[in-house]
Amino acid sequence: MQHLYGNVVWRGDVAARVVYLTFDDGPIPEVTPRVLDILGYYGIKATFFCVGENVVKHADIFQRMIAEGHAVGNHTYNHLAGWQTPTDKYLLNVEKAQEAMLAQGADTNLFRPPYGRMRFSQKKVLKDKYQIVLWDVLTHDYNSSYTPQKILDVVRRYTRNGSIINFHDSLKSEKNMLAALPLCIEWLTENGYICKTLCLK
Ligand SMILES: [Zn+2]
Repeated sequence: MQHLYGNVVWRGDVAARVVYLTFDDGPIPEVTPRVLDILGYYGIKATFFCVGENVVKHADIFQRMIAEGHAVGNHTYNHLAGWQTPTDKYLLNVEKAQEAMLAQGADTNLFRPPYGRMRFSQKKVLKDKYQIVLWDVLTHDYNSSYTPQKILDVVRRYTRNGSIINFHDSLKSEKNMLAALPLCIEWLTENGYICKTLCLK
């Protein structure tokens, strides 16, 4: 992976016409299966940064992600805000999420901090075990003032070779994201982009 600043990846292979679709905060039954249906329809693989407690609650959906060839990453067990959480507690919470995924047979070395932020002391430890992944294209799919068309406009405007595009399979994003996702995939495909999963070790 390229574009590493302070051990954090913002963007993938800039030399290739590839993008990486990522979905944070699931899996949840109201939204994630519909994302999997859309990705399956277009034959596209993505990366899901999962919340550990959702993996435990909705193991069947997590298993479906894996079975359908998507990659998974760690997004803490309780969607903790790093800067509001003591480092020891944060690290244990990340580890708990890792164990929840391991119990489902998934070993990931990808980590995305909730809200895209954490303390330096947290990053310092996590960077040795995980590839910390942020994004260069934020769709704002959780923003109720955005429309699906506006999300498509963001993707069209900011996507470059190697872009990591951030969506959410959450209740807050449900309406916008599910309507925007097919539009974005069709635009990306028409413009020659191949969607890949983020690399695992
Ligand atoms: Zn999140």
